[in-house]
Amino acid sequence: MSKGIISKEEDYSQWYNDLVIKADLAEYSPVRGCMIIKPYGYSIWEKMQSVLDGMFKETGHSNAYFPLFIPKSFFSKEASHVEGFAKECAVVTHYRLKNDGNGNIIVDEDAKLEEELIIRPTSETIIWNTYKGWIQSYRDLPLLINQWANVVRWEMRTRLFLRTSEFLWQEGHTAHATADEAIAETEQMLGVYADFAENWLALPVVRGRKTPNERFAGALDTYCIEALMQDGKALQAGTSHFLGQNFAKAFDVKFTNKENKLDYVWATSWGVSTRLIGALIMSHSDDAGLVLPPKLAPIQVVVVPIYKHEEELENIATYVKGLTKELKAKGITVKFDNRDTHRPGAKFAEYELKGVPLRVAIGSRDMQNGTVELARRDTKTKETVNQGGLAAVIEQLLEDIQVNIYAKALSFRQENTKEVDSYEDFRRMLDEEPGFLSAHWDGTAETEQLIKDETKATIRCIPLDNKLEEGKCIRTGKPSTQRVLFARAY
Ligand code: AMP
Repeated sequence: MSKGIISKEEDYSQWYNDLVIKADLAEYSPVRGCMIIKPYGYSIWEKMQSVLDGMFKETGHSNAYFPLFIPKSFFSKEASHVEGFAKECAVVTHYRLKNDGNGNIIVDEDAKLEEELIIRPTSETIIWNTYKGWIQSYRDLPLLINQWANVVRWEMRTRLFLRTSEFLWQEGHTAHATADEAIAETEQMLGVYADFAENWLALPVVRGRKTPNERFAGALDTYCIEALMQDGKALQAGTSHFLGQNFAKAFDVKFTNKENKLDYVWATSWGVSTRLIGALIMSHSDDAGLVLPPKLAPIQVVVVPIYKHEEELENIATYVKGLTKELKAKGITVKFDNRDTHRPGAKFAEYELKGVPLRVAIGSRDMQNGTVELARRDTKTKETVNQGGLAAVIEQLLEDIQVNIYAKALSFRQENTKEVDSYEDFRRMLDEEPGFLSAHWDGTAETEQLIKDETKATIRCIPLDNKLEEGKCIRTGKPSTQRVLFARAY
């Protein structure tokens, strides 16, 4: 145990919680299942938002905002949607409190809402109710909208970032003239998420489709990206849904097509959440703290001066000023930690814990020699390099770190994705060498449920790049045409 963090080996789940708290990303709130995202954690979210927002705009989407409250009647309009979300809805029933005369604040029963309001767990219903007024003809399509918002799902088993009762996310809601266009949009946004996960989070993901059992409530097809965490458990990192005409029918959203005929509009929705911060932590970090991919690290380079006298610090500070200017010009975020309240060793430990990708230490001898000491967070290696040309060296190293973190996560996933052909091996491997298990399944919901009940493993997805292959279901022995990916998941 170091810095108050238990080791991953000892207790992975506790290690994760310790890390979130100690690295100052978030803390528990007075309401169970909700969290307070602290400035350091929130700055990671802001970076994610800014990159994703750019990607959404690049693919033609605009942002809008819809209300937090949804009339209860809206929910009942799409049967499978309400069925799926009913179990985890927060409901507003009153709009006023009062003093009961004995100094207690109580709900004012006279202020009961005529129609109860649901705090949005997702916004399809309120949005499709609105789209009815926005869409009349094929000329109004496609309608490509995204919303950045908070949602509430009353989760029973929660975990910081990964599964909270209130979470921050974006939800895209698009409307199209044809099924093909809507499917193309669903696939496009899955591609955007995969690109973001791999090239920004340095997180390799499997692109796939959910089985009917695991589909979003109200969707005809759910696409997802699935990632493997360091403990061998899977995490759904993003979803993109083809909703068919379900919501258009529920909210009577029709348009006149090019043939001048009335038809229902085709829909998609897609979302990623603050869960991605949990994914980031779980996939790269180690016992010393966070390891952040440079592209999403709030601070990319920290400079720590090592000095005894004030003049030495001044000398170092003058040099650092020039270096900072050069780095900023390259778009690199740098922090000069010249606090005199902390010793260099304490600063080193703090930035290690916070996952700052590169640390530059400069002492008086370095100043004499024209050198600095560079330390990489990912490999924990140190080297002495010349001050001349340092900005370019740092720029290159940040790129190398990004690539290295991804490569490490990818080889971990490859090592922990295994084909398995007997149920006995399947059960043993889930316990002894957890990861993605690629196995044959007979395609029925019953068998899927049976396997889940017996092993706690679920079908994470049917990979998009699957090859057809004759085989026998791992549980029932019935014929199967392809393997699917199983895992225990968060
Ligand atoms: P869904 O609307 O269920 O398809 O979920 C959209 C996105 O939100 C997915 O990427 C989920 O991984 C994520 N998500 C779902 N529930 C939660 C939760 N309770 N906390 C954080 N993220 C969540």
